[in-house]
Amino acid sequence: MTAPPSTSPLISIEAALTTDRTIADASATATIRPVYIETYGCQMNVADTELVASILREAGYRIVNEVEAADIILINTCAVRENAEERVFGRVSQLYGLRARNPGLTIGILGCMAQHLAAELPQRAPFVDLVMGPDSYRRLPAILAQTSDETLLDVRLSRAENYVGVEPSRKTGTNAWVTIIRGCDKFCTFCIVPFVRGRERSLDSGEILHQVHNIAAEGFREVTLLGQTVNSYNDGHTDFADLLRTVAAVDGIERVRFTSPYPRDFTARTIEAMAQTAEVCPALHLPVQSGSDQQLDAMQRGYSIAEYRDLVSKLRQAIPNLAMTTDIMVGFCGETEENFRETCELMEGLRFDSAFMFKYSERSGTQAHRAIADDIPESVKGERLTRIIKLQESISSEINQKWIGKTVEVLVEGVSKRPAADGSATSFGRSLQAKTVIFPEMAAPNSIVQVRVHSSTSHTLMGTLVV
Ligand code: SAH
Repeated sequence: MTAPPSTSPLISIEAALTTDRTIADASATATIRPVYIETYGCQMNVADTELVASILREAGYRIVNEVEAADIILINTCAVRENAEERVFGRVSQLYGLRARNPGLTIGILGCMAQHLAAELPQRAPFVDLVMGPDSYRRLPAILAQTSDETLLDVRLSRAENYVGVEPSRKTGTNAWVTIIRGCDKFCTFCIVPFVRGRERSLDSGEILHQVHNIAAEGFREVTLLGQTVNSYNDGHTDFADLLRTVAAVDGIERVRFTSPYPRDFTARTIEAMAQTAEVCPALHLPVQSGSDQQLDAMQRGYSIAEYRDLVSKLRQAIPNLAMTTDIMVGFCGETEENFRETCELMEGLRFDSAFMFKYSERSGTQAHRAIADDIPESVKGERLTRIIKLQESISSEINQKWIGKTVEVLVEGVSKRPAADGSATSFGRSLQAKTVIFPEMAAPNSIVQVRVHSSTSHTLMGTLVV
């Protein structure tokens, strides 16, 4: 194995001294190295980055927003599809170029891809200094303090690590993420998550409430509860339905969301809690994956299409104006044209507001990789994906048109990247249904305003402020 360049703490102490001359004590400067963290993947990774930032700040590091200003670069990664990993390989090679200017630069790979590829990462990217899985972040300061000629690995999975006592360094904004359950025990045959995030464990509800009170005190009005199977939450005293009600009751919290629930674990109690709790937003992301029972069986999802449809109809009956979104995967092992047609039919029948759509990507270590052939040609996967994207676009456009003429409540996020036709700035925010709403008037971020919708696209509602 090629020896990677070592991380020299001496060089970094000097760098810190030259950038921050007010610090006189050399022992204190050892930990003020500026850290830049880049995040890939799902919301749980975004939330994990906030944990990492908090752990590092607590240890005396400074988090910076520009990669060029950093002495330590950490990439928090995703492993769910191969292209997510390929992107990270591309990105770390590019970042390695920065070492020419800063020989003391430390580069680390964190998260799911680190866990998944721990064995091969030191060979494929020998210049990477450290590789840490999602359960190892408490040890990050200790690892960063080490000097080694080899890539430092820490990919121990834990049955207990919930980062209790670490108050995430939340980005300012309108929404605060709270991870309530880590890991996954479902073992769907296609999915890497149980292998890279370990066993399912729920954070104590007292700790969650403590976090939510802090979030409200910081001025956030919206909270999103997170987990790979968020509705499987149970800490031994409180189930997901009760947790929703308690979180929603915290003073100052006006909108509660959660993602992603697992269809099989969706209880009548949770539907009731959603329906009876005004703060719980009428928006639900419920991954279905396929419209074919045969495919769901092969994926070992644990529900049938009839059961999924039944759940959706109960949800829609109980919660007026519920916006529903989903995840759909095409080209999983053995997917026939008929199976694919069933997926299209399900989409046409259930009419999701929008969907994340993917081509199946074989992941080493999963049951599908070990036991089932990835037999759908790439060209067929691509063609099927294009077809469902087109179908979903037209459904999303039609659904969004129904909002024209209505007034929606918007939690303002800030100035939109999309200016008006005349070039002037516009504001944007989210409706209760989680739709992006754009309007020309300026409104304070984090305020709640009423917007009358006058037009729409498949992704956005446009309107004007109602005063
Ligand atoms: N816990 C979620 C899954 C999280 S991963 C669940 O209920 O299924 C997010 C999405 O990525 C999944 O819903 C699935 O649509 C997609 N996905 C997961 N593994 C994949 C793979 N091997 N190839 C392509 N897409 C995948």
